[in-house]
Amino acid sequence: MLKNKVPVLVCIAAFNLLILSDTFSQKKLTTIIVDAGHGGTKDPGATGQYENSLRSKEKDVTLAISLKLIAELKKQMPELNVKPTRTTDIYQDPREKARIANELGGQLFLCIHADSGPLKTGSRQIGTREETRYKYTYTGKGKKRKKIPHPYTVTVPVYEYFKKPLERSGTSVWIFAPHKTSEKLQAILDGGEDFEIETDTTDAALNDFDFKKSPEGRALAQIYADRFQLRSDRLATFVNDEIEKTGRRALGVSQRQKGIWVLQATNMPAILVETGFINNPEDERYINSEKGQQEIAEAITAAVKRYKQQIENSNKPTAVAETAKPKEEKEVTAAFESRPTKEAKVLQVKSDKVRVELFDDGEVDGDNVSVYFNKNLVVNNKALTANGYVFNLELVPGKTNELVLFADNLGTIPPNTALMVITDGTSRYEVRLAADLKNNASIRFEFKQQHP
Ligand SMILES: [Zn+2]
Repeated sequence: MLKNKVPVLVCIAAFNLLILSDTFSQKKLTTIIVDAGHGGTKDPGATGQYENSLRSKEKDVTLAISLKLIAELKKQMPELNVKPTRTTDIYQDPREKARIANELGGQLFLCIHADSGPLKTGSRQIGTREETRYKYTYTGKGKKRKKIPHPYTVTVPVYEYFKKPLERSGTSVWIFAPHKTSEKLQAILDGGEDFEIETDTTDAALNDFDFKKSPEGRALAQIYADRFQLRSDRLATFVNDEIEKTGRRALGVSQRQKGIWVLQATNMPAILVETGFINNPEDERYINSEKGQQEIAEAITAAVKRYKQQIENSNKPTAVAETAKPKEEKEVTAAFESRPTKEAKVLQVKSDKVRVELFDDGEVDGDNVSVYFNKNLVVNNKALTANGYVFNLELVPGKTNELVLFADNLGTIPPNTALMVITDGTSRYEVRLAADLKNNASIRFEFKQQHP
């Protein structure tokens, strides 16, 4: 009974937090909160449990990586105020973690975790033993009938059982999204892979909290989404990128609305990094090693640096953005048609109406682009920034619908790389395109009409 009431209370508390303070509009990134996931004897998180594992505990790994991350952030960006939620092995309720982050006035919340998954049990023969069995014969009839045992010996194998290590490995980044499970994650789940979504708490009431189920929950989720989801997503993408650069398996950015309660309870963009799988032997050694921990700390720091530059630059309109004027359509089109399309991506969508949000992917460096859709100019000489530029497209069923990105200039860091966040009403896709002064880049939409 109580269980049903708790989420509403929690939700109202978090809702007030969001309304009372308003840090999202800040133009400069000054305060970052680093949260070492789990902690204390009450919440050790996942543990290495496969045969011959290091038996490491997630709470220790997250603390070690967090401390290195804090040091690295301070070293590379001394102007930043970097605050931990914990620096020792103490237990914190997720509400406590969120409260600390909000009270410290964080503008970015980085949660460090390690992943796990269900382990399969293996068996192997370790020897044999002798076992006595019996055959029976019978004598007599009626009440005199008797059962006579005849013992004999057989040799039977002796097995031992062990936990097989997890095959899955890599780093994933999570953000809170109120709407739906991402395509990518759904594919993982549908594939039946050994993959459990980690929850940040052992508190069933928080884990089961479903934002869709209450009006307050929906409102709260929407506020978070409007204010922070885009920024969270940008940072998460940068982290995934930087992890990839280290040569580690980067599993991408996933969204979830249940189970990562702490992310939406913070009044700031927030990401959760699952640094590696503690039940995968390679990953366990990596996230427990000085080298691995430092590498992760440096990758996240590099991502934060990019993110910081981007949000701070996007606040002051660049000279290019101010002087950019729509060109004569004829003029653009002549140039557009003279360039071949080098990179073509295919995107399958479920609706004939799609919404496209266009961003500069990477540092905002004064890239200007035009966009053609089915050979019609739909975006004319627009400066790419970290704030999305939105336009809608209507696909023509039964034909190839092509969106072409054309670089009007090169910015300071060529080529012009655009991130397009595309939604078709049910799903959200991220597509990156790079165009330069010689080549265009395109997306071909494949729209399959759904026959009921
Ligand atoms: Zn965790």
